[in-house]
Amino acid sequence: MSNAAVSGPRILFRQLRRVMAGQGDAELRLQTIVGLIASNMIAEVCSCYLMRAGDVLELFATQGLNKEAVHRTRLRVGEGLVGDIAAHARPLNLSDAQSHPQFAYRPETGEEAYHSLLGAPILRGGRVIGVLVVQNRTMRHYTEEEVEAIQTVAMVVAELVSSEEMISSTELLDTAGNATLPHRLAGRVLAEGLAAGYAILHEPRIEVRQTIADNMADELVRLEVAVSGLQSSVDDMLNTTDALASEESKDIFEAYKMFAHDKSWLKRLETAVRAGLTAEAAIKRVQDDTRNRMKEIVDPYIRERLSDLDDLANRLYLHLEGNQGIDRHHLPQETVVVARNMSAAELLDYDQSNLQAVVLVEGTRSSHVAIVARALGVPVIGQCEEIYDSVEQGDYVLVDGEHGQVFLRPGDDVTQAFDRSVRHREERQAKFAALRDKEAVSKDGQLVDLHMNAGLLIDLDHFDSAGADGIGLFRTELQFMVRSKMPKVDEQTELYSTVLDKAGDRPVIFRTLDVGGDKVLPYLQMKEEENPALGWRAIRIGLDRPALLKAQLRAMVRAAAGRNLSLMFPMIAEVSEFLEAKSLLTREIEREKEKGRGPKQVKVGTMIEVPSIIWQMPHLLREVDFVSVGSNDLLQFFYAVDRGNAMVTDRYDVLSSSFLSMLQYIARECDKAGVPVSICGDVAGKPLEAMTLIGLGYRSLSMSVEAIGPVKQMVRSADIAKINEFTKRLCNSKVISAREQLRAFAKDHSIIV
Ligand code: PEP
Ligand code: MG
Repeated sequence: MSNAAVSGPRILFRQLRRVMAGQGDAELRLQTIVGLIASNMIAEVCSCYLMRAGDVLELFATQGLNKEAVHRTRLRVGEGLVGDIAAHARPLNLSDAQSHPQFAYRPETGEEAYHSLLGAPILRGGRVIGVLVVQNRTMRHYTEEEVEAIQTVAMVVAELVSSEEMISSTELLDTAGNATLPHRLAGRVLAEGLAAGYAILHEPRIEVRQTIADNMADELVRLEVAVSGLQSSVDDMLNTTDALASEESKDIFEAYKMFAHDKSWLKRLETAVRAGLTAEAAIKRVQDDTRNRMKEIVDPYIRERLSDLDDLANRLYLHLEGNQGIDRHHLPQETVVVARNMSAAELLDYDQSNLQAVVLVEGTRSSHVAIVARALGVPVIGQCEEIYDSVEQGDYVLVDGEHGQVFLRPGDDVTQAFDRSVRHREERQAKFAALRDKEAVSKDGQLVDLHMNAGLLIDLDHFDSAGADGIGLFRTELQFMVRSKMPKVDEQTELYSTVLDKAGDRPVIFRTLDVGGDKVLPYLQMKEEENPALGWRAIRIGLDRPALLKAQLRAMVRAAAGRNLSLMFPMIAEVSEFLEAKSLLTREIEREKEKGRGPKQVKVGTMIEVPSIIWQMPHLLREVDFVSVGSNDLLQFFYAVDRGNAMVTDRYDVLSSSFLSMLQYIARECDKAGVPVSICGDVAGKPLEAMTLIGLGYRSLSMSVEAIGPVKQMVRSADIAKINEFTKRLCNSKVISAREQLRAFAKDHSIIV
């Protein structure tokens, strides 16, 4: 930023401060403010629109437009250019506003005389509460510095607009006013369980008490001290990673370290202080900018990096306050963590002895934080959009991860009902624990193998207590995803070896890297794709970049020296892909053999996730040692329904006769060929669905660890011959969902689902 541009806002700020400190009607002061902004920015027009109830933006003050338009001109969020700025919460810079397709002409304003427009959202607590606009007659192109300046000025205006005086004189809604009332919020269950605790905010809120600095030099010193405090605390975090959990979060701290020393981020903060803001306001200003950019970005890798920056801004703010924030490693009481979103590594960073539950504004069931939380046994409610605006630090919160609801500041009656549900759940859990050493044998004497899905080292801690027969799916990519660089062959060997050690005699099926789609490796350059789920992912990457796959296969072969090795490939769509991948494995086995090492026995299989491979079953079954049905992806491709999109995921039922008959075909072909088949998608872990799968002929199911007890209970209460009979009929029927029929069948036959 040039000196002239820096000193411009500084003079303006001095004037604005005088107006804000003065007395008098808030609206009149707002009018004075728009006048000052217009003359300082050499604009013929400056207008301020404020948000009224019902998402309507109303013109509150203007310099340059017709005065009669004040309180008359109203625009919906999304309507016109002002509505567009509010809808996207980002600035707009147009030299010819009237030719913009969003331009909405309002004759009462007289704005036809003005061509160029520069506008910025007025933000408070991350929400848009208004829009500030300047306009000029000529087709002017506003500079980057001017765009910066209007955003900063909008922040100052936010302070005035949020003053109590203004709120009462304008009847603006203050949602925070409801904060002390009990509240029930709905969300989606990402990890099951019931828990209660006191809320802490994962990202502390930055509160700006003073926007314009009294003394710039003092603010620069405060910023500098806070920055060096932040830098050394991030360095410390990196040096004190000792526990297993921390090992997996070490990489995220490395990314933090990089940003904490990032020159351009620090420069932007300094520039904002030099423009006249307090250090707090400067951090907020730069953070708002990052958040706005996040809204526009879909690339998960860049989003992740921007969210690291967002978190760092919060940490920097705490340093400014002389506050180290919450010590995530030592939570003083039972805690419910509330966050917009969180990475798996951040979740692992919390003191597990007091972490009771997590509530997220975002998140889906297949997101990694959800997968890790399920492994930890921590209930998670996601897509709980209202939580951020409703919760206060320290609120008592009940998290119902059975029905997808959160109770804030509950009354006695709700707490008592919740306690009853907790006792109920504990009784059920105790029953499951008693089944741990019992086999999953049906009433008519048929045995079903129940395996667990795993991917992180913490999963292995549950291996013994879960009563699982083995690991039916080890998702190796999770280990890759929580790191900031590719794990070397030796590191991978050690990991796979630890898994095999823990498993002892129980079988483990490793799946080779299944990345791409929604599973992103921070260090693997991927092009943006229009349909990532159908794109360059899983085995396609492995075959196109054989070095990656070979390194992983080498590590697995070495880890299994003298033991059994079972591995499978994801997303195989053609038999030739399986053969190509298998030949890479064969070469690695031979290399080890030449050195006199290698596994005792190797079994190679494939996932069935792409419908095309089902049309090649007889051919495929001659080549593989086993197959495992990945029903999550198979359902996605069968119905062409995005598994991560909440708008469509519930549209089709896995228990439709069409999908079930396809599953039945797979099981029958495998049976005919004498090839073992299992199923390791989400369906295997739900008792009703698992009952149906058994009816279709599946005798090996792999599921998340907490599902083993309920599924075992179901098997032990069932007569499989009768289920076979019933499901055969269902496959021949034409129902979109057989769920109710299956439920009724289970009830009639006393099968516990
Ligand atoms: C599946 O697709 O069903 C599966 C088990 O793999 P993932 O969920 O890891 O894609
Ligand atoms: Mg899959």
